[in-house]
Amino acid sequence: MKKLIVVILTLALLQSCGNNVKKTGDTLKKYPAFDVHNMDTTINPGNDFFAYTNGTWLKNNPIPADKNSKDAFDELFERNRENIKEIITDAASSKDAPQGSNKQKIGTFYNSGMDTVKINEEGIKPLKKFFDKIESVRTIEDVQMAGAYFQKYSISPFFVLFSNQDSKNSNNIIAQCYQTGLGLPEKDYYFNNDESTKMIREKYLEHLKKMFILLKDEPAVAEKNASIVMRMETQLAKASFSNVENQDPQKTYNKLDLDGLNKLAPEIKWQAYFTQTGYSGLKDANVYQPRFFKELGTMMKTETVDSWKTFLRWQLINSTASFISKDFEKQNFDFYYTTLSGQEKMEPRWKLVLDVTSGSLGEAIGQLYVEKFFPPAAKERMTALVMNLKKSLKQRIENLAWMGPKTKEEALAKLDKMGVKVGYPNKWRDYSGLEITSDSYVMNILNSQAFEFRFTMDKVGKPVDREEWDMTPQTVNAGYYPNRNEIVFPAGILQPPFFNLDADDAVNYGAIGMVIGHEMTHGFDNYGRQFDKDGNLRDWWTKEDSRLFDDRAAILIEQYNHYEVLDSAFVNGKLTLGENIADLGGITVAYNAYKLSLEGKEAPKPIDGFSDKQRFFLSYAQIWRTNMREAELRKRVKTDEHSPAKVRINGVVYNVPEFYEAFPSVKEGDKLFRPAAQRPVIW
Ligand SMILES: [Zn+2]
Repeated sequence: MKKLIVVILTLALLQSCGNNVKKTGDTLKKYPAFDVHNMDTTINPGNDFFAYTNGTWLKNNPIPADKNSKDAFDELFERNRENIKEIITDAASSKDAPQGSNKQKIGTFYNSGMDTVKINEEGIKPLKKFFDKIESVRTIEDVQMAGAYFQKYSISPFFVLFSNQDSKNSNNIIAQCYQTGLGLPEKDYYFNNDESTKMIREKYLEHLKKMFILLKDEPAVAEKNASIVMRMETQLAKASFSNVENQDPQKTYNKLDLDGLNKLAPEIKWQAYFTQTGYSGLKDANVYQPRFFKELGTMMKTETVDSWKTFLRWQLINSTASFISKDFEKQNFDFYYTTLSGQEKMEPRWKLVLDVTSGSLGEAIGQLYVEKFFPPAAKERMTALVMNLKKSLKQRIENLAWMGPKTKEEALAKLDKMGVKVGYPNKWRDYSGLEITSDSYVMNILNSQAFEFRFTMDKVGKPVDREEWDMTPQTVNAGYYPNRNEIVFPAGILQPPFFNLDADDAVNYGAIGMVIGHEMTHGFDNYGRQFDKDGNLRDWWTKEDSRLFDDRAAILIEQYNHYEVLDSAFVNGKLTLGENIADLGGITVAYNAYKLSLEGKEAPKPIDGFSDKQRFFLSYAQIWRTNMREAELRKRVKTDEHSPAKVRINGVVYNVPEFYEAFPSVKEGDKLFRPAAQRPVIW
């Protein structure tokens, strides 16, 4: 869901093994700036820059059994987990944290997740009130009211109800309805007929059956129920947008008042549904996929109450299986991690519980995290870097040959107004309305979700809080928010290898500089460019400039469509377009910023035998060193709007003229050399 509101730098790449050392806030552990030992210099950089930079590392770093990939992010992610662990275990072992304090909540939450004896003993017992709710359903209205009841706990059988800025009036916050209902990662999984997708569908059906058996259905009944769920999901999938359609902000903007909602899907009792969630006063909502809601409405007529009850049972258990007894957890893991991603075994429990605790009590932990692990110097230096990057992008826009003056004026105004958040929020969330007890892990999670649901829905109709953060400080990620026209860099990503106080400037500009440039460019990619400086969906482009932009984007789509990452698995140039534009723009703007930073200074001397300009590109390519399981890669190509790591390097550098200046040995005739005429200049 968040993917739609936030365009995020990478992630999901966040997995791997780690046995790294802890550190304290004032003495950050030294981290190698750039490691030449990772390279394979027997490879011609013109044939495969990714392998040239990372070849030795790729050979020496197999994927651990409890990961679906291994990459540079893991190293940071695992070090970060160790930091968060210090905070959480301190709270968990505390005997004197006052009842109701953040510390008590963090400790109790974590301990409830680690108490596997109790969790295994109880099975689905903590979920009794939800199963009873389904059991009591008699009519199709009851089906919807049960769905709305679940919604209050952010279990969303039909759609997610949340709030966000109105894309055409960004000062207003309105309700949003985002379709759900599918147990497979993406609509194509229900229809594609290649061998690997067919196998996944078969295994999914088996998984459904096994879950119903765990819920104590007789095998024959479980089999029937599995096929009911599959049939219903397939029907919903048929009506769902493709992931490319989902990226169209005009197409997904359908603000409807109650009359409009009733017209769109009269079978859904909208007013009663909203009332049941506790928000009877909702007057309008944005519906992302009208087609889906129409179909959902139709199915309220065509499917029996009993089929819907089966559907609800599946939705309930699928949302909670990872947090209850081992049998459910294991079956859930087998399908979602092993079958879909190739991961062989589960990560240690403390890591899983830590992630959930950190997600549920995000800012409560974030506040302690920042005090301990985020030095003020990092915030200052990062803020200065962002200003340099802004200056660089401004210069690039001013000098763009293809764009006319009127569009430039608007683009520059948008850049000027772009907000920047670094590290952590100025004011912290209040968790006093959230009760955490040692009664049940899964109920702690669901109560936290209920707390989040009220938090988002209470915002409807209120002014936008510009100080608010969507990501927690400990998050290893970065983002651009189109409705806010704002870039955000949580403390979590401001660490090596992205941001390295010990590294030379060229290496930092190639890493965190590129990240900043990438996020800024999201304000001007095929999606972001449709929003203006105030975050409103408004076309500020002249017709001619819009056409020229699309022409350049079309070159990128075509280029990326040709990358075959596995046998018959190609990158989807349209799906990944926004990220590819941001990668190309990010590297270009970061390189220009690095050049600006050198003005008036003596040119840096080579280090490790590489010039500073080479180190800039090597640093960029080394950030993306990745080994990934085949199953995971196949899934990503279908679902991830980011190109695979290798393509994020090789798809980018050969389009950048400065790369050829840095590596003059790369010439025509090399495998990936691209003639100047075929290199699109966008930003
Ligand atoms: Zn991005």
